[in-house]
Amino acid sequence: MFDAIQKESLSHLRLLEEIDAQYDAIQEEKGDLPQQIAVLTKTMENLRQTLLSEQKNSQTLRDLVDQVRKNVKELEGRVEFQQEALQKAKDDASYEEISEELEITKLDIKLLRRKIPENLQKIRKAEATMDEVKKSIFIKENALRSHQEKLKEITQVHGEAQEKLSQERKKMAEKMDPILYAYYERVRSVKERGAVKIIDNACQGCFLVVPAQKQLDVSLEKSVYTCENCGRIFMGVIRPVVEVKKKKIRPRASRA
Ligand SMILES: [Zn+2]
Repeated sequence: MFDAIQKESLSHLRLLEEIDAQYDAIQEEKGDLPQQIAVLTKTMENLRQTLLSEQKNSQTLRDLVDQVRKNVKELEGRVEFQQEALQKAKDDASYEEISEELEITKLDIKLLRRKIPENLQKIRKAEATMDEVKKSIFIKENALRSHQEKLKEITQVHGEAQEKLSQERKKMAEKMDPILYAYYERVRSVKERGAVKIIDNACQGCFLVVPAQKQLDVSLEKSVYTCENCGRIFMGVIRPVVEVKKKKIRPRASRA
């Protein structure tokens, strides 16, 4: 696959991998802070929406209760008026008519008054929800602030270094063989590391043993080789350290 690739490409790849490893180490320190911040921000947005709609809801209910009380007052005025009219009734027929009207007004008042406690209860419920939402907002807000501060701290410490790494990476990517670069990027996007070494006979990506012939080919750098199992590019071979027992050198007898 990479037969035409020269040694130079491999050394560029090694440098690129080093840059990526350093960049990733910084990213790792950030952990999932950016994602957590995004989730918290979204949650806060939703909570604020809920609070707003509950506030509107409770205001509507308050207005409704005010309106009901006003209507009751008006009807009470009508009752007074009808009672006066009743006393002044000229004949039986009009007395009957007015007292019927009076009964209806009283019934209307009764029905209207019933609406007050049920709406007051709804208001209390909305207020309880608002209290809960406010508590949640307070907690989430603190968590969000602490996450943001942590991220800011990390960014302040490593931001410059990361920026420099990004620039170095861009330069290196331009120098690289485009086919090899594209392959590296593809593997990296799926498997984090795009290129690894063979250490103690094992691919450092998937930890499977690499055949001896391939290890030899990789170390001779005749071409660029990949792991048959995980697809990562091999950057080199580090052989197991074999302890060589040194023979004890006996001091020779002097030939004096
Ligand atoms: Zn592998």
